[in-house]
Amino acid sequence: MQLYSTKNLDHKVDLKRAVFEGLPPDNGLYMPVSIPKLPSSFFEKLPDLNITEIGIEVCRCLLGDTIAETDLRNIVETAINFPAPVMQLDEQKAILELFHGPSLAFKDFGARFMAQLMSYFNQGEEQDLTILVATSGDTGGAVAAGFYQTPGIRVVILYPSGKVSPLQEKQLTTLGHNITALEVDGTFDDCQALVKQAFLDQDLRSKIRISSANSINISRLIPQSFYYFDAYRQVMDQGKKLVFCVPSGNFGNLTAGLLAHKMGLPVHHFIAATNSNDVVPAYLREGDYIPRPSVRTISNAMDVGNPSNFARMIDLFSTAKGRGVPTDNGIWKDMKGMISGYAFDDPTTEKAVQSVKTTYNYTIDPHGAVGYLALDSYQADHPDTLGLILETAHPAKFREDMERIMDGPIHIPERLAAIENDIKVSVKMGIGYKEFSSWLKDNLL
Ligand SMILES: *Cc1c(COP(=O)(O)O)cnc(C)c1O
Repeated sequence: MQLYSTKNLDHKVDLKRAVFEGLPPDNGLYMPVSIPKLPSSFFEKLPDLNITEIGIEVCRCLLGDTIAETDLRNIVETAINFPAPVMQLDEQKAILELFHGPSLAFKDFGARFMAQLMSYFNQGEEQDLTILVATSGDTGGAVAAGFYQTPGIRVVILYPSGKVSPLQEKQLTTLGHNITALEVDGTFDDCQALVKQAFLDQDLRSKIRISSANSINISRLIPQSFYYFDAYRQVMDQGKKLVFCVPSGNFGNLTAGLLAHKMGLPVHHFIAATNSNDVVPAYLREGDYIPRPSVRTISNAMDVGNPSNFARMIDLFSTAKGRGVPTDNGIWKDMKGMISGYAFDDPTTEKAVQSVKTTYNYTIDPHGAVGYLALDSYQADHPDTLGLILETAHPAKFREDMERIMDGPIHIPERLAAIENDIKVSVKMGIGYKEFSSWLKDNLL
């Protein structure tokens, strides 16, 4: 498998390099040079496959002979060891539950697969690899769980003290083993600045092998395509036009859907659902892409003002790859033919959480509720479709907001309740780089 930078078609690397590097040096994003279609034999046997077997088939097709069959099997089986069930609400609408992994959010798919792939490519290295990751909450939890006890890899998570939810903090600080949480006396931006400086520190890098677990890593995108195929498997016998409605922030999830479509998944249409951070719905409507600072909402994992995967979406619809930015009217026309955008504010989202409960007796989280609203709007004009709403996280992850909106207690899954009694272990850290780099050298060498 070869990958190119969305900013330069001539910059080509293999999968190992793309996974360890994360970002190409030109600040583009890595994309597969070739996105082959799955063979018809795959679709013939699809009804009998589970999500793990689907993942193996998709990887075999996309990765070619990059990874030997038994290793590939092992990677996918270890990473994707939980289901993504479809819950039918009525004849038109269904929920694709993506929260059955360890951190209860869809990011588990990407983080676990990335961990396995890095561990595989890291074999034979004498020195451990250290993953540095700054988090404002959700990503850190998925990365920590994903890399937990992965041989040869250590994870150092930097989070802003007092600025993540109590539950998120527990997810970062209670695992131990190869996971260390640094509690930084500053903001998320301070955490990110420390990580960035570490990557620029040649002295540190000559001593310690470091890599990032960035959300734009191609290895996080690939496994997110698996559940689109698995969802199709679960509803294909209904014979309806299939629409995927994706609550979006950085648009990795939706981009993975486009990838599945390119590989031959019969999708009728995609819906980009956002909160008030609506730069992509605005682009789809007006044709101008105007990034702006994000605003805070209750669906905070989607509070993104300049979605990083937008460059990949443009590239997928572009006939001239590797050019970077959207200038071309043809791209816009093609994209809006395949994707509709809708945005909703917090009060409307809260009402949707309540009405999904009253109408269907289903507890949907605020991110999923934005998706519900978007699908409902789309289906007003397209009633002959079956819409799948991607439920990106378990509602219990947003307990405080959910209990306020529902005006009562919500169900807390056992694995989440258990973590509340675990003991937090963190290393307190200031925002100065010297303290951070000394800590790394003292503790990782
Ligand atoms: C990360 C996240 C999103 C946004 O996903 P993107 O791939 O960035 O669009 C939506 N919902 C939840 C719960 C998330 O954690």
